[in-house]
Amino acid sequence: MIYHAFQDLQLPALAVGTMRLPVTDGNDANIDVEATREMVAFAMESGANYFDTAWGYHGGNSESVMGELLSAYPRESFMLADKFPGYDLSNMGKVAEIFEEQLRKCRTDYFDFYLIHNLCELNIDEYLDPRHGIIDYLLEQKRAGRIRHLVLSTHGSFETTKRFLDALDGHLEFCQVQLNWLDWEFQDAKAKVELLNERGIPVFVMEPMRGGGLLSLEPEHEATLAALAPDRSLAEWAIRFLQSVPGVATVLTGASNLEQLKQNIALFATEEPLSPEERDALISVARAMTTKGTVPCTACRYCTDHCPQGLDIPWLLELYNEHAYSDGGFIAPMALEALEQDKQPAACIACGACEAVCPQQIPVAATLADFVKLLENSDDE
Ligand code: SF4
Ligand code: SF4
Repeated sequence: MIYHAFQDLQLPALAVGTMRLPVTDGNDANIDVEATREMVAFAMESGANYFDTAWGYHGGNSESVMGELLSAYPRESFMLADKFPGYDLSNMGKVAEIFEEQLRKCRTDYFDFYLIHNLCELNIDEYLDPRHGIIDYLLEQKRAGRIRHLVLSTHGSFETTKRFLDALDGHLEFCQVQLNWLDWEFQDAKAKVELLNERGIPVFVMEPMRGGGLLSLEPEHEATLAALAPDRSLAEWAIRFLQSVPGVATVLTGASNLEQLKQNIALFATEEPLSPEERDALISVARAMTTKGTVPCTACRYCTDHCPQGLDIPWLLELYNEHAYSDGGFIAPMALEALEQDKQPAACIACGACEAVCPQQIPVAATLADFVKLLENSDDE
């Protein structure tokens, strides 16, 4: 495991995410505790001793399972990160109540890292509203040693991120951004990284492989990369790219089983940044991919609770992407047949509620309307 110095800590270059842990029966809330115990043991043995949980992961059970499993280890032997769930505005007045509950669930007296979760255009004013007292409360916990390091996690634009950094002048010690080779230009991650570099704030990477979306590419794109490095996997391309970005301290990766965790950890055994030619090739592939008419949904599911029609938005967008990528085909129509009429893309009433919370700024309503048209056209053929 590679380590990077951060203040008085040695941070593993890989942080173990707990958003997509193994589950027992296909139900996201039912974490497979024994399988997760094995994964935690392997991570600890491998020196990957940074664990990242959050209030909303696995229906709230990620925190309690991680608390239970990590309590088997001396507290100083691992680092634990948790987050204030301000992506849900109804939590804004409850910072103390939620923070205490998180400590209880995680069976700890302190968090090594505490993140302001999913800053975006929708919630920045609420986060900064002194009536909620969120920032004052978190700084007080930091002074009391219950938060060792205060961190920002942002899906907001460059301007929103900058405004927040300015408002908390000097108090944010780390910043988590969505960063991968596809988003370097597509979501202008480059500008955010440059901003953080200017301010000397280390970069904490989330979605290094876009929720797995960069692990399988169109054959022509895979061929471009294979011509440059025949033995390099797409996962390695993703990590080597991040190792080429200045200021990246830690990369958050999720794993749904032990095998995936082993593969992830193996990627961080060495530091091998891409050559300038390799980096250029990757960015060219990204440009080609992002003009292909798909949408960059990461299946974070922040939107689903907000849909008055109860649509499974990420699933519909995944099917849309499949349909758009394959110029039709049978897979999406077949999958849609399994859904009730009132859960189909045509049931969208274009209210925009999902778009207001989408970190990827996806025009969901227009995409679903386009999906309806594409499906009608396929029926006519
Ligand atoms: S725009 Fe459509 S998909 Fe989005 S919340 Fe409204 S009804 Fe649901
Ligand atoms: S549409 Fe946006 S908010 Fe909804 S799951 Fe996809 S990325 Fe997340």
